[in-house]
Amino acid sequence: MIRYYSTNRNLNPSGGIRPFRGKVTFAEALLRGQAPDEGLFMPDAIPGLTISQILSLRGKAYHDAAFLVADAFLGNDIDSESLRSIVEDSYPFGVPLEKVYGRKYIMRLDQGPTASFKDFAARMMARFMSRFKGKDRRLNVLVATSGDTGSAVGEAFKGVEGIDVCILYPRNEVSGRQKKQLDTIGQNVRAISVDGKFDDCQNMVKEAFSDPGLAHLNFTSANSINFGRILPQIVYYVYAYAQLARQGGEEMIVSVPSGNFGNALGCEYARRMGLPVKMLAMPTNENDEFPRYLKSGRYEAVSPSRACLSNAMNVGHPSNLARFFDIYGGTVDRKGVVHRLPDLEEMRKNIFSVSVSDEATRYTIKAVYDRYGTVLEPHGAVGWRGLEAWIDEFGDFPLCVSLETAHPAKFPDEITELLGIVPEIPESMRGLDQRHGEPVELPSDYVVFRDYLAGTLEV
Ligand SMILES: *Cc1c(COP(=O)(O)O)cnc(C)c1O
Repeated sequence: MIRYYSTNRNLNPSGGIRPFRGKVTFAEALLRGQAPDEGLFMPDAIPGLTISQILSLRGKAYHDAAFLVADAFLGNDIDSESLRSIVEDSYPFGVPLEKVYGRKYIMRLDQGPTASFKDFAARMMARFMSRFKGKDRRLNVLVATSGDTGSAVGEAFKGVEGIDVCILYPRNEVSGRQKKQLDTIGQNVRAISVDGKFDDCQNMVKEAFSDPGLAHLNFTSANSINFGRILPQIVYYVYAYAQLARQGGEEMIVSVPSGNFGNALGCEYARRMGLPVKMLAMPTNENDEFPRYLKSGRYEAVSPSRACLSNAMNVGHPSNLARFFDIYGGTVDRKGVVHRLPDLEEMRKNIFSVSVSDEATRYTIKAVYDRYGTVLEPHGAVGWRGLEAWIDEFGDFPLCVSLETAHPAKFPDEITELLGIVPEIPESMRGLDQRHGEPVELPSDYVVFRDYLAGTLEV
C-alpha cells in the first residue's frame, strides 16, 4: 500500500517547526489536506504502467484512463467497483485533442462544468472525499475564493453524498459572471457573499477551522495542495499519449502553462510512472521565479506577485514547488526558503521553462489564430509559446502536446480585441444568465459567521 509523507520531514526541529516524520494513508492525506508540519503529502512510491497498458487506452473513454491511473495508486485503498463508478461519475465530458499543424496538438481541458482544467481534479477529489470519509460521517467543506477555484470546487461537490459546501467570496471583488456562477450552484453548495475583501473571507475560514466550538462540524478544505487534486491531473497526459503515439515507446514533448505547478506535477508523475515524456515544458507568465531558478540555481520568490493576463498563474512562489524539489532531492518551505538544494542537473534534463510576457502572450494568441485558425486564451497561449521556445532552441520534434487550461469564452474581451471574433460559448456556460440563485449575505465579522455555521450546518 502506498503511504504519504511530508515534504518537511527533513527540516531541523527548531524555530517552532516540528517536522512530521510519519506516514499516512491516502484517506488521511486526502481528508487532512496538508501535513501537520505544513508540508505537502507525497506518495512514498510511484507505481509503474507498461507501454502496452498505456496503449490499450487508445480509442477508449477518458474515464478508462482515469481508472487505470487511479487504480495503480489506490488499488489497495478502494475496490474496483467503487473506483469505476467514481471515475465514470467524474468525467461525463470529453477531452478534445486539436491538431494545430503536423503532429503538434492542443489538448483542451475546458469541457467541464466551469470550463477550466481545475474541474478535472476537483470532481475526482470530491468523490474520493465522499467515499473515504466513512459512511456515517458528514463533512463540511469551507472555501474562500476570489473567483474561479470556488466555482470549480462548488460544481465538483454539487450533489455529492454526505458533504456540504460553503463558499465565501468578496462581494465587490468578483465579476458579474463569476458571481452568477457561484450563486447558482445550489443543492448542497451555499454561496456566502461577504461584505469585505478576499483576505477577510480567507481569515474567516481559517478561524472557523481552528475554532474548538465548531470542531463537531468536521470541516475540511479542498485547497489545491491536497494530493487528491494532484492524482487526477496525471491522467490526461497518459490519455493524450495513448491517442496520439504512433508506436509504443515514441517520445512526446508536453507543455503546461504553470502557476502553482500542480498541473505540471501531474506530468512529472506520469513520466515517472513510465510515460515516454522527452521534455516537460513549464512556461510561466511574468512571475518568472522558476525559469530564473533553472538558469541560475538561485531561488528567489517574486513578491508581491505580478498581475498578468493569464491571471490564474499570477503566483510568485508556487505551492507545489515543494513537491518538485522533494522529487529531485531538495527541500523548500512554504515561505520559499531553500533548506536543501535539489539535483539541478537532473531537473534541467527533464524540465524546460521560460517566462512569457503579456506582450508575447497577446502576440501568440494572434499569430496562432492567423497561421492555423486555432483559438487560444491567455493561459493556453503561454503554454504554446513555451513549446515554441523549446523548438526554437533545440529543433523540431515530432509529437508535441500543449495544454489549453481554460475556455477562450472566459476571456471574451481579450479574444475579441485581438482576433476580431466573439468566442463561441461552451455548453456549460450557456444559460448562465437565466439561472437564478441568491447568496447568503454576511458582514465581514467572524462572530456572525460562526453563529451562522453553528445554526445552519448539519452534523
Ligand atoms: C490554475 C490555473 C492554471 C495554473 O495551474 P497550476 O496547477 O496552478 O500550475 C493555469 N491555467 C488556468 C486557466 C488555471 O485556472
